Amino acid sequence: MRKKIVAGNWKLNNNQQETTALISALKAKGSFTGVEVKVAPTSIHLAQAVAELNDSAIEVIGQNMHQATHGAFTGEISVGMLQSIGVNSVILGHSERRAYFNETDEALAQKVSTAVDHDMEVVFCFGEELEDRKADNHFAVVEGQLRKALFGLNPTDWKYIVLAYEPVWAIGTGETASPEQAQEMHAFIRNLVAEAFGAAIAENVAILYGGSVKPANAQEIFSKPDVDGGLIGGAALNADDFFAIVHSI
Ligand code: PEP
Repeated sequence: MRKKIVAGNWKLNNNQQETTALISALKAKGSFTGVEVKVAPTSIHLAQAVAELNDSAIEVIGQNMHQATHGAFTGEISVGMLQSIGVNSVILGHSERRAYFNETDEALAQKVSTAVDHDMEVVFCFGEELEDRKADNHFAVVEGQLRKALFGLNPTDWKYIVLAYEPVWAIGTGETASPEQAQEMHAFIRNLVAEAFGAAIAENVAILYGGSVKPANAQEIFSKPDVDGGLIGGAALNADDFFAIVHSI
């Protein structure tokens, strides 16, 4: 059976003290079963979060990494740097990185390749803009993003891949894809992976939904057969809300 995952992306939020406070609140929520729980603090708090969550089942993951393993790339973070502090999973391709930091499909293909070559799990984000959906172009956009960044992988690399479908129009907007829209896209994605890499890989890959998931809508979205969990932004900043979502699985 494939994994269920709930991951919280903290983005550019929480100073050091706030990071500790949120981690304490999450730990106080107690245990969970049948689901992998991950949180992605900002990079300067990753080592602190790893230490503070050491005795917990919550995994700390990165929000981004560079495609090069080292060199003259001021301000960037490498796969080896993440792994040296105990971070073995990273979000790549978030729509905010694509929109505000010019991350192209080509750069993302390189980042994914570097990650999997170093046994790093990738939570790979992709999704269409509102205009794409209005123009009924959303399937083609998603297919293009996946083909360009992931379809050059070897079949064996797929054990490191978690997919996160995040329609851009639903991120941080309060607007959620309906459970039916999410299921329709997730089934389409799984079918694409099956055609390219075979049924076994497609059956095993977790496909998360992201975009204004809240305690009030999580259960219905997660009940769909091809939705294997969520990537959570705003609601991940509150321990009660985040754990309500975790327990919705
Ligand atoms: C996200 O940033 O990945 C996200 C899904 O954000 P939100 O839950 O706030 O829409």
